[in-house]
Amino acid sequence: MVIEQVGKRRRPRAIASVSVWDALGLVLAQEVKTDREYPPFDRSTRDGYAVLSNEVSPGSQLKCAGEIKAGDTVRESLAAGTCWQIMTGAAVPAGADAVMMIEHTAREGDLVRFERAPQRGQNIVPRGSEAAAGQTILKPGMRLGYAELALAAQVGAVQLQCGQRPHVAILSTGDEIVLIDETPGPFQIRNSNSVSLAAQVRIAGGDPVVLGNVADRIEDLGEKIERGLKEDALVLSGGVSMGKYDLVETALKAMGAEFFFDGVAIRPGKPAVFGVCQGKPVFGLPGNPVSTMVTFELFVAPAIDLLSGVEARALPLVEARLAEALNEKSGLTHFLPARIQWPERAPEVKPLKWQGSGDIATLAKANCFLVVPADREKIAAGESVSVLLRKDVV
Ligand code: AMP
Ligand code: MG
Repeated sequence: MVIEQVGKRRRPRAIASVSVWDALGLVLAQEVKTDREYPPFDRSTRDGYAVLSNEVSPGSQLKCAGEIKAGDTVRESLAAGTCWQIMTGAAVPAGADAVMMIEHTAREGDLVRFERAPQRGQNIVPRGSEAAAGQTILKPGMRLGYAELALAAQVGAVQLQCGQRPHVAILSTGDEIVLIDETPGPFQIRNSNSVSLAAQVRIAGGDPVVLGNVADRIEDLGEKIERGLKEDALVLSGGVSMGKYDLVETALKAMGAEFFFDGVAIRPGKPAVFGVCQGKPVFGLPGNPVSTMVTFELFVAPAIDLLSGVEARALPLVEARLAEALNEKSGLTHFLPARIQWPERAPEVKPLKWQGSGDIATLAKANCFLVVPADREKIAAGESVSVLLRKDVV
């Protein structure tokens, strides 16, 4: 639903030139080509001796003609009956077709004795075998992770044309909410949701625009929503349940929003709403902090991918063995804070005791959510269950 609706409204991103140091997580908007062959020379992958393979057999000896370090200019070629001592990353001299690891040799003065027979090409990465000169190695639409950035750096592409991150407005609602640097009254609480949402927006590849908190009054909501709709998407927290002061949906409707769902069969997060208002995707997430976090991952993160100009990434779901029996009320798909571990390589997940969707302290101990399907009341220890990983800590 979100993917379909947001997908329909995708528009090309503004492009900017970004330094390779600052481009992590951005979507590339250009081709990057190699400036030369890679590797640019036949590269030794070991410390050892460069040899002609058919001159070496177990117990044979060759005279060492000299030494080649990484970075050395290699002019001489291998003469018959000789070898060169060579270091990892150094250029293999012409005429050599294998590098014998130093561990399999013995040295006495100028003479090197070999314990084994080499295979042709052993421990050498041939020139041009990773990439040809002028070859396209990065394409528009690719997301730049650390390997992609290293590849750009390797070929000297220090400035990259990238799509701008989508700007995601974050608006929290509630009469009881105060700024995080204020001392709350006895029945007030600090605006932690704006902080978690801003972090989640960043991880999802967006740029958060934090609009603060608005009281539960239609007029105030309308004004702030108007401001939020100037960005590429708007995420609200709180005010979407059934209470008398849950006015987010009403305020959005008054501004022309069309809703595609107003409630989902999950816990936490049941009251979440999604709509489009004045052409912009709008998410009304429930205010309970863990509900806000879960519904963001399920609905908002994929939308940020689409708004970034890439396909929505799959949710980070894995299968794990349940460590202890579970007994949950059925009817809704549950997302329980849990810890996944890999004790004997096979993943094992254990739910954590918690106080429900307001319990940030337990979530801070969790590294995943255990997903309990709506039709499963009891799950025995040892059964296989689905786990939604917390991308920021696992
Ligand atoms: P609501 O969805 O507005 O009914 O709020 C549900 C619960 O989440 C209430 O206990 C709120 O106090 C709490 N809550 C709402 N907004 C925030 C926020 N921005 N930061 C932390 N907790 C909040
Ligand atoms: Mg509220």
